[in-house]
Amino acid sequence: MSNVEHYEYVFLGGGKGGKTLAMELAQAGKRVALIERGMIGGSCINVACIPTKTLIQNARVAHVRHAQSGDSTGEGPRTDMAQVVRNVRSVVNGMVDINLKAFLASGMNLVMGTGHFIAPRTLQVQLNDGGTRVIEGEHVFINTGTTAAVPDVPGLRDAQPLTHVEALQLETLPEHVIVIGGGYIGLEMAQAYRRLGSKVTVIQEAPRVAMREDEDVAEAIEAALAEEGIDVRTGVKPVKVTGRSGEGVTVELNNGAQVSGSHVLVAAGRTPVTHGLGLDAAGVERDARGFIKVDERLATSAANTWAIGEVAGSPMFTHASFDDYRVLKSQLAGGNRTTADRIVPYALFIEPELGRIGLNETDAKARGIAVRVAKIPMAMVPRARTNGATKGFMKVLVDAHSDQILGFTMLGTNAGDVVTAVQMAMLGKLPYTAVRDAIIAHPLISEGLNILLAKVPPRVDNL
Ligand SMILES: Cc1cc2nc3c(=O)[nH]c(=O)nc-3n(C[C@H](O)[C@H](O)[C@H](O)COP(=O)(O)OP(=O)(O)OC[C@H]3O[C@@H](n4cnc5c(N)ncnc54)[C@H](O)[C@@H]3O)c2cc1C
Repeated sequence: MSNVEHYEYVFLGGGKGGKTLAMELAQAGKRVALIERGMIGGSCINVACIPTKTLIQNARVAHVRHAQSGDSTGEGPRTDMAQVVRNVRSVVNGMVDINLKAFLASGMNLVMGTGHFIAPRTLQVQLNDGGTRVIEGEHVFINTGTTAAVPDVPGLRDAQPLTHVEALQLETLPEHVIVIGGGYIGLEMAQAYRRLGSKVTVIQEAPRVAMREDEDVAEAIEAALAEEGIDVRTGVKPVKVTGRSGEGVTVELNNGAQVSGSHVLVAAGRTPVTHGLGLDAAGVERDARGFIKVDERLATSAANTWAIGEVAGSPMFTHASFDDYRVLKSQLAGGNRTTADRIVPYALFIEPELGRIGLNETDAKARGIAVRVAKIPMAMVPRARTNGATKGFMKVLVDAHSDQILGFTMLGTNAGDVVTAVQMAMLGKLPYTAVRDAIIAHPLISEGLNILLAKVPPRVDNL
């Protein structure tokens, strides 16, 4: 066996939370090793958030140009996909480069290879350029993320479906993409490929898309996608797949229908990267779905061993992984920050954009929380009119007995940024009336908050 190298802090996988903590500890003069099997900077910048948002922006430009071209053939734009892929790669490469320089400048030991535990807090690494190293840490952090799940449908695996990884590398425009899954990743990919010029069918087993959202939100999303020519089928399940993605595939559905297309893309859930990590040797327990069991401090069942990000079951967003970094930084310094009660906002990058924070009507009902609800169409917001982006709405939930904002959902242009404004009010525990009466510059999209909050019904105890 190779000599055992000792570090104060060892990170297995360099996701958002882990790499941030690793760099900070190394900068502070600690002995730090980060083991990463390939994606410098983690999945967000290599295969997830950043390349998908670049693809979406390229698709938006193609869509607008096509709409302005006056083309009446009914065919979509003929996008130069090789150029789109180059654009995506160039953004990714730029960010990978920044990450690599920051890693090296921090003084950490970046170990490029695949690691697995051979004993508690001891990892063996199969180095990418050959050989092995054995690395032991006083504190060990697991930040290995998730990968796309391939549902157990006969023929699907043999069809070699695209995941988001391969879908970001297609240098020829696919003629017809069948997207399995109507969650956030599936919907973003569906609209992007439609706007680039492909035919797109979305197959969603649940009764509606974006199941985490209220029914009115999901209906508005389905309508917006249908208007762009995307065939959204809900409440149906693939039962058999024949053919091969890229050469032609047919998906049979449980209602007897068949959908044939050139490519099939799976966006139907995520699998934690825990298989093959030797977690038993580390004394690290997993839950029934394979995610690492952690407490509110992100501590695993093994001493001085922590988990970060998606593999720890944290919400599947980069900013949640980043918040895990804050929790661990606090814990290491003897502080008391935990993951309990944190409110994680998010955005879905389709058009109209979805932004959400806190409770929605479905959650409030399920939890028996009495709320006052106000909703306005985006058409009431002057800037939405100047932008020709009047689809969607804003909806706020205010506590029935106090003036605290409990949740906000927006489907419309700049939704994610407007959510941040609401989040600041929630963090500051401002009564909704403070935002209602705040002077907001005209004509900003967030001015809609003045209009929306003026419609909150009075408190029952004030009547
Ligand atoms: C298509 C797509 C789009 C997304 N868009 C958004 C978005 O717009 N906004 C948002 O907030 N979130 C988005 N997400 C989610 C976001 O990418 C993740 O939540 C985020 O990257 C945090 O991941 P993480 O920290 O858990 O680990 P990751 O970033 O996944 O990092 C895990 C790392 O561990 C490495 N690794 C795994 N096993 C080993 C091993 N045995 N040895 C060594 N290294 C290993 C991997 O190579 C990887 O680099 C998107 C996800 C997908 C799939």
